[in-house]
Amino acid sequence: MSMVDPKDCLFCKIVAGEIPAKKVYEDANSLAFLDINPRNPGHTLVIPKKHYETLFDMPENEAGDLFKVVKKMADVCKSGVKADGISIGQSNGRAAGQIVQHLHFHVIPRFATEGPVGLEGVLPVKKMDEPSMNKIVESLQKGTSAKPKEPAKPVKAAKEGEEEIDFKF
Ligand SMILES: [Zn+2]
Repeated sequence: MSMVDPKDCLFCKIVAGEIPAKKVYEDANSLAFLDINPRNPGHTLVIPKKHYETLFDMPENEAGDLFKVVKKMADVCKSGVKADGISIGQSNGRAAGQIVQHLHFHVIPRFATEGPVGLEGVLPVKKMDEPSMNKIVESLQKGTSAKPKEPAKPVKAAKEGEEEIDFKF
């Protein structure tokens, strides 16, 4: 259920041509255009033309088309601005930091000169023990139709900058 009327949606207005944008790619279902506040030259947004507020609202069978364009733009942006790498970012909901309430992927060219800081750098590592990890994987597997054949193997926790966190179920 969308909380934003598509009539008032910035990205829907870009799709409709009511607001100008630096369009890079367009097909029947998807549009890619430059972010007006680029984190780096070539920072591109990829959106579905239909108004879905988040990934949760998009039917699964439409997600493949959108991600194909994300992949295409990763290639195009990497060669277009001679980037050394590409970060893909996508946030759903206010808690995740989503600002524009129309599903979008960020395709962000990255350069060796800026240092290898990944999007993971935004959140600190949370230290979790094995039983907690197993509880979480079991909980997540309940939501998938195809289960992995192997049981989850022990996973090593990260060391630096970790912080304790207690997930409750
Ligand atoms: Zn919209």
